[in-house]
Amino acid sequence: MGAPEHVHSHDHTHAEHAFQGRCFCGAVHFEVTGEPVAMGYCHCDSCRSWSAAPVNGFTLWKPESVKVTQGADRILTYSKNPTSHRKSCKTCGGHLYTDHPLWGVVDVYAASIPAYPYKAALHVNYQETKLRMKDGLPKFRDMPKDMGGSGEMLPE
Ligand SMILES: [Zn+2]
Ligand SMILES: [Zn+2]
Repeated sequence: MGAPEHVHSHDHTHAEHAFQGRCFCGAVHFEVTGEPVAMGYCHCDSCRSWSAAPVNGFTLWKPESVKVTQGADRILTYSKNPTSHRKSCKTCGGHLYTDHPLWGVVDVYAASIPAYPYKAALHVNYQETKLRMKDGLPKFRDMPKDMGGSGEMLPE
């Protein structure tokens, strides 16, 4: 320890910073707090079809880290299969996040929380890619082993 510091004692030193998310029109607001479990890019056909984008930036959070703060009654939930409950706004169709109850995480689209310092660590479902990304990050054929996949890697 260095010299004593003259710091003020604040009650909120343990308060976690919240990052705000919202749908396209702003009817639905939510926030994330704490640290995500994982961040990366998903190249799967489902993400591409639903998001209408060539690749999806995901941030995975524990469910208790994600809280709807406005417009909960405006949220539409769509489940094509039991693993993914996709949430969007009934008014604008803008995407919010996806609950993965079987995996115990919530996928918040990086684009939905623009102020969050998103930093991808890996690419998943790269066998389905339509947009190769030569960024030097690991490219998983499907998913890493600890996320229930084969763990197999593919070249960029
Ligand atoms: Zn909206
Ligand atoms: Zn995907």
